Amino acid sequence: MTTYKITHTSSITAASSFWTKQASRIDWVRPFEQVCDFSKPPFAKWFVGGETNLCYNAIDRHLATRPNQAALVWISSETEQTRTFTYRQLWEEVNCFAAVLKSLGIGKGDRVLIYMPMVPEAVFAMLATVRIGAIHSVVFGGFAAASLAARIDDAKPRVMIVADAGSRAGKIIPLKPLTDEAISLAQHPPKHVVIINRHLDASMQTLPGRDMDYAALAPRHEGEIVACEWVDSSHPSYILYTSGTTGKPKGVQRDTGGYAVALAASMPNIYATQPGEAFFCTSDIGWVVGHSYIVYGPLINGSTTIMYEGLPIRPDPGIWWKLVEQYKVVAMFSSPTAVRVLKKQDTSYLTKYDTSTLRYLYLAGEPLDQPTSDWIENGVGVKVIDNYWQTETGWPILSAQPGIEDTPRKLGSPSFPVYGYNVKLKHDETGAAVGPDEKGVLCIVPPLPPGCMSTIWGDDERFVKTYFGMFKDEQVYTTFDWATRDADGYYYIMGRTDDVINVAGHRLGTREIEEAIQAHKNIAEVAVVGVADALKGQVPVAFAVVKDTSLVATPALIAVHEKEVMATVDHELGAIGRPARVHFVTALPKTRSGKLLRRAIQALCESRDPGDLTTIEDPSALEQVRNAVA
Ligand code: AMP
Repeated sequence: MTTYKITHTSSITAASSFWTKQASRIDWVRPFEQVCDFSKPPFAKWFVGGETNLCYNAIDRHLATRPNQAALVWISSETEQTRTFTYRQLWEEVNCFAAVLKSLGIGKGDRVLIYMPMVPEAVFAMLATVRIGAIHSVVFGGFAAASLAARIDDAKPRVMIVADAGSRAGKIIPLKPLTDEAISLAQHPPKHVVIINRHLDASMQTLPGRDMDYAALAPRHEGEIVACEWVDSSHPSYILYTSGTTGKPKGVQRDTGGYAVALAASMPNIYATQPGEAFFCTSDIGWVVGHSYIVYGPLINGSTTIMYEGLPIRPDPGIWWKLVEQYKVVAMFSSPTAVRVLKKQDTSYLTKYDTSTLRYLYLAGEPLDQPTSDWIENGVGVKVIDNYWQTETGWPILSAQPGIEDTPRKLGSPSFPVYGYNVKLKHDETGAAVGPDEKGVLCIVPPLPPGCMSTIWGDDERFVKTYFGMFKDEQVYTTFDWATRDADGYYYIMGRTDDVINVAGHRLGTREIEEAIQAHKNIAEVAVVGVADALKGQVPVAFAVVKDTSLVATPALIAVHEKEVMATVDHELGAIGRPARVHFVTALPKTRSGKLLRRAIQALCESRDPGDLTTIEDPSALEQVRNAVA
């Protein structure tokens, strides 16, 4: 058996000793008594009885050994700034932020909603929150007011931390007006809004009493030391919302001890990164990848984390490689879409800088196609590793694990299950195991390993029903992804089993986009499907039935109406959910029992055969779709 196989097998068959060993990678103030309590399946509690703190493991414990090493380097090509924080300086900033939060009455278990662009203060806010035992919920800065309001109402934060604005390609994106609108829509508004004023938006309005300027609060707390709040291993560290098949996003709840151990182990084992080395993750703190591999993973490991605000092509398409050279980055984490963006640029930038320190480039979040993988691997001369995981798991499910063994990679495959994950491919109806090269639903036999979601925030029942209810005879976690496994044990992801789509590595529910479109007063009914796209992997395309057909009577009117519907999505959900096209039809193709024929619509959009249509209610509705896309 290879080292990988031995490690994986022991992580499943001797899970207690395996995870006890991994747990020694972090600091515990009180040792755990039991590795895993799985007495109430499918709920798993890891490192029971143990007490720790995420911020302590990310910063304080490194103060003795690496106080003057850069912990966080922030580079913004938007504002042309670079700021470096050593572990000592990061500790000071986080203590100050924690003192501000405490002065506002925030304590253990309170929620802090962070709606910020990619600035260091967002990281301070996250770390300060967990330092005092509070729970953060970071909402991606690209989400619009209504989406933000829904998250406010679910998490019920006592305080929100926001910036005046973000910046994209030099264009100021105000965030404060969206915050104000979201709070006015919310049933459970926060008491305070702490503003990090970057002075990008001079027109920013504030509400005295509720809104507070961090620059005014911080000097009162400079130099204060806030002791870490020791919490139970299972104490929630954060809530991160993700899309599913309903319009209501799910709050993925993460624990503290299990998450810290999972990340601490992943840095050497999967990312082959040692303490003191630089790690560069190009994601955004609003996504799970940003939580795990911009903030917590590299810091827990004692790495230098590189945080970048800006586009990969500004000021020129060499910016990322320049940073790799400058900071001697050893491992980089990005997405296939970002690489496809670079592919359209001047290729000479790939070799302009010395990237010889870079050992691996990890790409995740969406399927990695072979041309993209080959192009970047050969262009930069770096090994590409496909990573497959989900917001729910918090760290990779499938990946090559070069820190354990440098197994041969097969293009198009994220290799094997990561240690701790007991992965099974099951027939979607019977639940039977599928054979080599046969398509099955990718499932994980519980308990889910440390670091994975504990539950859905405030809704244990939804957690059990959504993730563990697929098969009646066996309670397994389903990822809702199709996959195959070849005779050598390599896995291949084949797409979602549900109505979730993946746009540029971002997961969106078609239902969520449909609800946003329905906010337009002239829309009676709408279907959104994900359609293959050369750059973004998939894009949403909408088919809408209008109430007043006179508004779409001519091509000119149709164009205006289409733009209006797109603007409605921008307003309700955010531009990330904006459909690439909105086609107006008089009926949607449905079965006789009223079920939308999404697969058939999607097939027509991708010029494929729509398949079995014997149950269709009105064939002319499908003809309209065919004509619209033609
Ligand atoms: P998210 O929770 O937003 O990270 O989205 C997770 C989903 O993205 C998965 O369920 C997959 O559908 C897709 N995904 C993530 N990584 C990969 C990958 N390496 N290959 C194929 N699909 C992926």
